[in-house]
Amino acid sequence: MFNYKGSFIIEYTLKALTGLRIGGSKEQFEIGGLDNPVIKVEVEIPDYDGNGNTLPQGAPYIPGSSLKGKMRSLLEWLNGNVEKMIKKVKDDKNIKDEKKVDKAGGACTCGECEICKIFGTGDAERVKELAEKGIDFIPGPPRLRVFDAYPTYETLKRLKDALGENIFTEIKTENQINRLTSKSNPRKVERVPAGAEFKGTMVFDVYKDEDKDLLKVVFQGMKCLEDHYLGGYGSRGSGKVKFKDITLIWRPKEYYLGEEEKERKLFENNQLNEILKNLSEKLNTL
Ligand SMILES: [Zn+2]
Repeated sequence: MFNYKGSFIIEYTLKALTGLRIGGSKEQFEIGGLDNPVIKVEVEIPDYDGNGNTLPQGAPYIPGSSLKGKMRSLLEWLNGNVEKMIKKVKDDKNIKDEKKVDKAGGACTCGECEICKIFGTGDAERVKELAEKGIDFIPGPPRLRVFDAYPTYETLKRLKDALGENIFTEIKTENQINRLTSKSNPRKVERVPAGAEFKGTMVFDVYKDEDKDLLKVVFQGMKCLEDHYLGGYGSRGSGKVKFKDITLIWRPKEYYLGEEEKERKLFENNQLNEILKNLSEKLNTL
């Protein structure tokens, strides 16, 4: 049965170890002939960090959707969901051949696995099917929310010192060389410079005791991401990231009912490895 028990708050800093390129929209920020602008805030955010600092218009950020999507996709490979989807689609006579690759490469829609419980399943038909089997079969609300992550004030200062007022990105030129004529075909790529740090928060809700076991999967997804890439052009050097200073807080239902002292800090400014190693032990104390 579903019975809301509380939420885990995951606060982290994400550091770009190489230039970061999460695509934005071309129309809004036209910079002389740039094909690939990065995503930026369109309106300044006053007191964005709770310390009275303003995030200026045009500052880059990491959309929660990018981080969530990437973690989900890596976890689906890690846990064999992609394999499962390929098998399912291959044998399904109701799916047209030309649609099979699209379906097989899409997000898992089983509604029963850990990934579907954590990240949600977009397949309403499937949820209806499961609901017909009974309440215990439905996946329930997606447990994880991933909020947008904004650059730290230190990062804004560092970029300002290096690049000037209101310039937050570097322009990298990449070349394609014609194999026969050696003619080069340069392309300009906008990136957030390496070293930039972003602060973000994820919230993980617990509706059943066994949901606590799913929390580990979130940290496994973060770990996978560190050896993959965030944003675009990862195979060409961009988007290597590292999580640091991770704080994990448990807020039981009582906290939200007004008993603030019930909040418990399980980890403070820890590394991912330490959390993965000690998480089960900490959760046993709740
Ligand atoms: Zn699934």
